[in-house]
Amino acid sequence: MVRRLVEVSAGVHVATSRRYVTTSTVLLDGRGGAVVVDPAWDPDELAAIPADLAELGVSCVAGLATHEHYDHVMWHPDLGDVPRWSSQGTVTHLGQERERLLAPLSEYLTADLIDIAGRLEPLPSGSLPWDGPPTRCIQHDAHAPAHLAVLVEDAGVLVAGDMLSDVELPMPEGSDQALDTYLTGLESLRDAVAASRILIPGHGTPTDRPMARFDSDRRYLDDLLSGRPSDDPRILDPDNAALHAANLARADVSSGRR
Ligand SMILES: [Zn+2]
Repeated sequence: MVRRLVEVSAGVHVATSRRYVTTSTVLLDGRGGAVVVDPAWDPDELAAIPADLAELGVSCVAGLATHEHYDHVMWHPDLGDVPRWSSQGTVTHLGQERERLLAPLSEYLTADLIDIAGRLEPLPSGSLPWDGPPTRCIQHDAHAPAHLAVLVEDAGVLVAGDMLSDVELPMPEGSDQALDTYLTGLESLRDAVAASRILIPGHGTPTDRPMARFDSDRRYLDDLLSGRPSDDPRILDPDNAALHAANLARADVSSGRR
């Protein structure tokens, strides 16, 4: 079954993939245009997004990839040949390591869809250059280098990318050996989370209690860094076992440094 777009706030729609509860977010500019953030995942799900946009009577005017991971840089030809933005760091890294970063897509996508994945250009400023309401883009290195979150300011909608998930534990970027880069990145989102009424994670469920997500991640990390057992329910998910073990090892590195 292909899940269709669901409106989570006025002018903000989310589709959820059958794979890893991955979200695709559509931001409407109120003038007939739509920016599609992180469209995912299977070919039928990718094709459903432009079909849903047509039903809404809008057309895609741009894309945005929150970060360089393969499951966030997909596209569909029916979305059109429009600008697809990301951070300068993401664009540069994909240019240097396209093959390695996109290799996992061969398991899911056809050759034509792989070819158009990751064709990004840098955002010209710290906000979306669109006809819609004011936005603020926040860049950090917590989960991936030069990762972007987008806050639609008046609506109070925060598109968080792979941060602040209810299903996935904090997943630091590979070179973050002691959780310090992650904590810095998480804290860089605090003001945007506090200013938001709806938070959309890259994997998981949109929530109308954004600060509770932030507090959960902060508490999980603080427990690990203090050597306390965490009662975070996400630990019980077998899909998070390896990640939790890696985070415990990172916390050990951190305490060894103190
Ligand atoms: Zn990711």
